[in-house]
This record gives sequence, structure tokens and C-alpha cells, in this order.
Amino acid sequence: MVTRFAPSPTGRLHVGHAWSALLAMDMAHARGGAFRLRIEDIDGTRSRPEHVAGIVEDLRWLGIAWDGDIVFQSARLDHYEAALQRLEAMGLLYPCFCTRADIMASSAAPHGPEGPVYPGTCRGLGDGERSRRIAAGEPHAWRIDMAQAAERAGPLRWDALPFPAEDGARAQPVQARPLLAGDVVLARKDAPASYHLSCTLDDAAMGVTHVLRGDDLRGATDIHRLIQALLGLPSPAYIHHPLLLGADGRRLAKRDGSIALADLRAEGADPRQLASDLRQARFPIGISLASA
Ligand code: GLU
Repeated sequence: MVTRFAPSPTGRLHVGHAWSALLAMDMAHARGGAFRLRIEDIDGTRSRPEHVAGIVEDLRWLGIAWDGDIVFQSARLDHYEAALQRLEAMGLLYPCFCTRADIMASSAAPHGPEGPVYPGTCRGLGDGERSRRIAAGEPHAWRIDMAQAAERAGPLRWDALPFPAEDGARAQPVQARPLLAGDVVLARKDAPASYHLSCTLDDAAMGVTHVLRGDDLRGATDIHRLIQALLGLPSPAYIHHPLLLGADGRRLAKRDGSIALADLRAEGADPRQLASDLRQARFPIGISLASA
């Protein structure tokens, strides 16, 4: 068994991250497996090296130990590029010149599990216009033509394991519905990969057999399953855990400084006690588990 924790270095870790990382570590180590750490640092605008150091410090403080070297996505750009070229050669990608404002302004954009669904504005551009705008240096992302990709891959399922993990639990096949997300971005304007592409490729490259992550990423799992099928990658089992809510009833986010591990440490929290509490799903005051 290989599990992983894959934070983005866009802020310090909060209690929810710590809980997720502890669960993933314990799950692998209880079965003689490996727990890996991957830093998802290709968001050039929001990733910060000081947050990488902070994450490592926070994890060590809590007694979270990973196996092998830390994998940095910023060191794997060539792999993403190569996969992108394969998908492009299959005719499944198109350049998208839209800005965020263009997409927001499109009243047609319905909401999917991943936020507003791209209305497909650039899908219909002719080859001539595409080449001309790329040659002129117009910034562009690469989107997947989801309808075509889904048709090529055929019906797909991913394996879901229950949360909390039960020994001997059988995986339930879940039908993947990638079309709900629309034509998601696979390469961003500022990076040769998006979260969906890099995460899927890295989980495969790192030999991850069990992905444990928050319920908010179920929609992403559908997309990752599709990318696996297109690129001939193995599909791990997925365990989606409930999110943690703050006192305001909203999901924890890096904005809620009060529950950052760094703050708990500064307040003199005992890391062993905290880790033990989290393992029993006992959370600091005001924090609760969202109901499934
Ligand atoms: N970097 C992503 C995050 O922090 C990882 C999500 C995942 O586990 O796939 O949300």
C-alpha cells in the first residue's frame, strides 16, 4: 500500500490538513506500506518557498514522517509536458485564450462540481485562428475536449473505499462522470500542467495505491479517472473523507489563521496530544466534521 499527502504550498497547514495527513500515514504504516509527501508547487502565483519550509516544519512537529524523498511538482514539468503532447496528438486538447473575466461574464456558464463549467468559447475556433493567436504570443491555457475524451475512453468507474477505513472492506465501483466538469484546463497559462494533470501523473509515478483526500475532490476523481484511462495509467483506490468545518459552519481554509498548526504550536499545544486527539476525530473547540 502506498498513500500520500499532497499539499499546495500556498499557506500554513491547518488542522484539517493535519488530520488528513495523519490518516493517510497511519493507513499505510499499519499495513507495512509507504506514506509519501508531494509538494504541489506549480501554482506560480500562489506557491511560496517559505510555505514549503512551513509545511515540512508543521508535519515534523506533529510527528508525521514520510517515506522516501519529498516529490516536488516543480521538478517534474517535463513529464507533464510529455503527457500533454500525447493528449494533444490524440486530438483531445485545444488552446483557450479566455481570461477568467471572460468566463465569469458568460452567463451561460453552469456550475459543476469544480465550479463554473467552461462554456466552450474557444472549442470552436478554427485551426487558422488558433495558430495565428498562438504565433502572436497570446497567452493561452490548454483545455481537454471532455465530450470527445469521454467518448474515446468509454464508460469508466473508480474504486471507492469507505471512510473510516475498515480492514477487509471491499472497494465499491463508482461510475465516473467527468462530463459534469466540462472542458477543464490541463495546462495553465503559467504552467505546463494543471492540478488535474500533474496530480494524476504523479500518483501513478509514485506508485500510489490509495488516495485519501477530502470529499470536495470527488468531482476531481472523476476527471483523474478519465486521464488515467487516456494515458494508460493504473487507477488507485479512493477514500474521500468528510471536510472539517469551522465555528462559522464553513469549511476550514487557510484563511482561518486561528487553526493553523503553527498557531497551535505558538499557543503551546502538545503535538502528541493533538495527534492523538485527531486520530480519534477529536478536534479543537469550534471545529467539527461535516456530515457526509
Ligand atoms: N494540492 C491539493 C490540495 O492541497 C491536493 C489534493 C489531492 O490530494 O489530490 O488540495
